[in-house]
Amino acid sequence: MNKILGFDLGGTKVLAAVLDKDFNILSRVKMKANADLGLNSVYKVICSVINDACDEAGIKTSDLSAIGGCAPGLVEPKTGLVYDSPNLGFKDFPLQENLSKDFNLPVKIENDVNAGLYGELHFGAAKGMKNVLALSPGTGVGGAIVIDGDLYRGARGGAGEFGHIVVQPDGPLCACGQRGCLEAIASRTALSQQILSFAVRGRIPMVIEEAKANLKKVKSGLIARAYNSGDPDVKAIIDYAARYLGVGMSNLVNSFNPEAIILGGGLIEALPEPFLEISTRVMREQAMRINGEEVKVLAAELGDDAVIKGAAKLASQLIA
Ligand SMILES: [Zn+2]
Repeated sequence: MNKILGFDLGGTKVLAAVLDKDFNILSRVKMKANADLGLNSVYKVICSVINDACDEAGIKTSDLSAIGGCAPGLVEPKTGLVYDSPNLGFKDFPLQENLSKDFNLPVKIENDVNAGLYGELHFGAAKGMKNVLALSPGTGVGGAIVIDGDLYRGARGGAGEFGHIVVQPDGPLCACGQRGCLEAIASRTALSQQILSFAVRGRIPMVIEEAKANLKKVKSGLIARAYNSGDPDVKAIIDYAARYLGVGMSNLVNSFNPEAIILGGGLIEALPEPFLEISTRVMREQAMRINGEEVKVLAAELGDDAVIKGAAKLASQLIA
């Protein structure tokens, strides 16, 4: 097997890497996605970043065996059609087919959380496991499912939307239109909003100093610093979110009886302790004993590389 290119298309940036046959990363290139310039511009950036990662690795794109990539949003399991990725302006966009034509290579496009869990399954926190779930509180709350060693995508690619499990009927409104979804309570977006609403009322001085009233500046790093400084309001907000993450996890554990749940994303990287500890305790309290007592709750290990490696591993199966 020759080299494989993996890329991670996010809402704001595209990261591409060339990997060798053992999935070691040989080169790495990152660019802004330019989502505000429209779909064609995003597609051009993906092509440029693929070319540049190959240049950096000292190879031509024709030296690649396959390309594996991911998109944030719903992806049709077979065709790699990106149904809907609102941040990028993708709607029924044939990303897999277009790249395959333009680079004359086998291409596999996967949902980003699925690719990340597949990476952790083969190279990271879930190595050696067979039944694993992922949960990642970020802009939303992403989820993914591995059953008997394979990704489970559902009939149309929509399985694992754990962010929209209702954990609090009549709770806060979610972007999907329902109330009380896990995402409306435990996503980084929901936490940032709550923290900022306290800050503008004169509480949480650290946040108002650093972020002013700008929601976009209330990122994981600032949330973690405010938490670790002992601010009681931030602690209350985070502990509450972690508790509901645990409620969501107890539902998942009873539905799937996994060996482990892998928690990922920038917020968990910045604040592993309260999230892992509190959510695990609540999950064990609420799940059926047999399902809950042995399930491990682990932090993801590979960071940004999880998606790249997972996508590359999936693409490698096209040529195996
Ligand atoms: Zn929802």
